[in-house]
Amino acid sequence: MGLNIIICGGGIGGLSAAGYLRAKHNVTILERGTLDFTENDYGLSVVSNSFNLLQKAGIKSENLDMVVLTHIWVRGPNNEELNTAHFDTTARFNTSPSVLLKRAKLQKELMRFATSSEFSGSPAEVFQNTKVTRVDTAAGKVWAEGDQGERVFEGDLIIGADGINSIVRSAILGQDIKSSIRNYDTLIFMTQLSIEDLKSDPSFAYLSNPLVQAGLCSVHATSEAHMHKNILTYHTSPHSLQVVGYTSEKEFAEKFDSAKTAIIRDVPAARVAEDFSPAFSNPFVNLFRHNQVDAWRIRDVAPLEAWFSGKALIIGDAAHAVSPHTGQGCNITIEDAEALGYILRDIESPEAIPAAFEKFVSLRKDRVDFVARRSREVSHLQTDEDKTKTPIQADEFAKEIYTYQGAEKALKA
Ligand SMILES: Cc1cc2nc3c(=O)[nH]c(=O)nc-3n(C[C@H](O)[C@H](O)[C@H](O)COP(=O)(O)OP(=O)(O)OC[C@H]3O[C@@H](n4cnc5c(N)ncnc54)[C@H](O)[C@@H]3O)c2cc1C
Repeated sequence: MGLNIIICGGGIGGLSAAGYLRAKHNVTILERGTLDFTENDYGLSVVSNSFNLLQKAGIKSENLDMVVLTHIWVRGPNNEELNTAHFDTTARFNTSPSVLLKRAKLQKELMRFATSSEFSGSPAEVFQNTKVTRVDTAAGKVWAEGDQGERVFEGDLIIGADGINSIVRSAILGQDIKSSIRNYDTLIFMTQLSIEDLKSDPSFAYLSNPLVQAGLCSVHATSEAHMHKNILTYHTSPHSLQVVGYTSEKEFAEKFDSAKTAIIRDVPAARVAEDFSPAFSNPFVNLFRHNQVDAWRIRDVAPLEAWFSGKALIIGDAAHAVSPHTGQGCNITIEDAEALGYILRDIESPEAIPAAFEKFVSLRKDRVDFVARRSREVSHLQTDEDKTKTPIQADEFAKEIYTYQGAEKALKA
């Protein structure tokens, strides 16, 4: 019994949606890549709004190689202390902690949620190396290329959790894949560090023991000419940190466009130093000298006319990729997954699906728009429309977002 659900994409949204939906339905996941959880992936903040949902669902902290977020350090360009704030969502909002981890660790645990017999319902069936190439939203059909050639999958409903370049979104909207994606002439240079790499510099002592205090250090340039530049350093496990430097794209704009990619690997450290020195002192610039640095284009998805059509619905980055400054992209994606599981829990007939989709959108849209606007405000990427609105304050954002307790309570509220 239950609906036959095809999920396109086995990332954060696809695997978590499968975990929530399998309790009542039959779930198939089509993932274009190999799910290799040993990769040294980028770091993510999993904040209380989604971490509490994952904990309730049975995700185990001990499987995540995570640290608990305890501090936000604001430093000047010479690493001088400007403000140190305690970030404790449990003490402040009586909810779960917020944590920092590597994406591959979270994905591995979400795979367990989707496929292990420890959870209720039938394990989701996962097809890896299976790339969705076409979707018929009215018929509920998905065409995918895999090792065995082309296959057609048919379901009562299709969930597009296929990320920012979503093919399901383009089928729903009848548009080119790229048409809703926006750039902002902003990129991040990103690199990974081990805690050992920091130990030679005593000015970073505050970052060197993440099992005692872990979090994020933010540094802004002070000179007028470099005001848009920002370096963030944050823990990603008990042994590692990630460093990202925000700056304008310059010659990378052409490189991203001509290579049709949003990531350019292995940027020379000297090129990164050109952007951040002397606006930031050597301790910060040198953080980019230990390991490979990659350039990532900052993009988001413009508000869409529709998140569903016929039998297909999009969630996560496919529906609402946000700019990164509030660290909420993966969190609102997990919220989507939980909401979908809740809204579809008692639905057995395909006729009830359109009303369920309407309910999902009415529950989720304003909330993700709020996150997206705050993210643009914090990173100085406001649209003209944003500038007509009163900016969202940090406390207002924290209270609204970090206290979320799932779809059932949100619907009652
Ligand atoms: C560098 C970086 C740092 C980030 N930091 C944070 C953070 O600190 N906190 C936070 O909350 N968010 C963060 N995010 C955002 C977060 O990673 C995303 O919001 C989140 O991964 C969205 O999940 P998703 O499932 O929608 O998309 P994804 O996780 O991108 O998954 C999409 C999946 O679909 C698959 N796919 C795509 N096309 C096809 C196809 N045609 N056929 C089959 N499969 C397909 C992909 O291979 C992928 O597995 C960060 C993102 C980046 C890039």
